[in-house]
Amino acid sequence: MKDRLEAEQAERYQAHLALPKIGATGQRRLLRSRVLMVGIGGLGCPTALYLTASGVGTLGLLDDDIVDRSNLQRQVLYGTADIGKPKVQVARERLAGINPDVDLEPIEERLTPSNAMDLVEGWDLVIDGSDNFATRYVVNDACVLSRIPLISGSIFQFEGQVTVIQPPLSPCYRCLFRLPPREQPACRDAGVLAPLTGIIGSIMAAEAVKLTVAGDTALMGRLLLVDSLESSTRSVRVKSDPTCPLCGKEPSIDRPTAVAVCRSSDA
Ligand SMILES: [Zn+2]
Repeated sequence: MKDRLEAEQAERYQAHLALPKIGATGQRRLLRSRVLMVGIGGLGCPTALYLTASGVGTLGLLDDDIVDRSNLQRQVLYGTADIGKPKVQVARERLAGINPDVDLEPIEERLTPSNAMDLVEGWDLVIDGSDNFATRYVVNDACVLSRIPLISGSIFQFEGQVTVIQPPLSPCYRCLFRLPPREQPACRDAGVLAPLTGIIGSIMAAEAVKLTVAGDTALMGRLLLVDSLESSTRSVRVKSDPTCPLCGKEPSIDRPTAVAVCRSSDA
């Protein structure tokens, strides 16, 4: 990416360039950024769509799933003809048509405690839109240990939440949720309101753009809670836990560590 925006880019990103808080400097930062999206499901699809349109430089698409008919109610990058195909391949094809400025890197893998450090290495920002607690803790561990900012989001039925994690500027996921719940029903079993994935995914994309452009967001150390049934949002300040085993005063976790979750499944 050159320092000057080319004529086509100036036209494409005109609405960003018009924003004093983004402008040409911010857009150039975006065009140089490397963002890894973990999970290209209900949250990953809208997040990846908006980040691609916004003009991030490189977007990593990490998922090892194939498209299932039960995904199509909310995973808007996929269509009926894609059933059975790897999500990252379909996502890359769809996104490539939106913006040629973005280098799309499909990574058809599952993030585990053993590969997490390697998978997050080299990215400026990680966004976790995974569908299960096991992955969320491992992504958190890898990002905190690698000092990479992390945007973490989740949805359940009519509710969603988003926070931005970057110790010591914020608590980590383990500060907020020391242990995962014992049972975790999959989206298709517990149910999820389709547009809620778009709401939460879009908030995650907005946080990613702000974090990339300005290095800060209002959700650092805050947990945003969205209730789509009540059509309400609220945010609560969250504090670092000095006894956190990962980012506390005497940490005991020095590598991505699995948590015991009884059941995890597909979003
Ligand atoms: Zn912590």
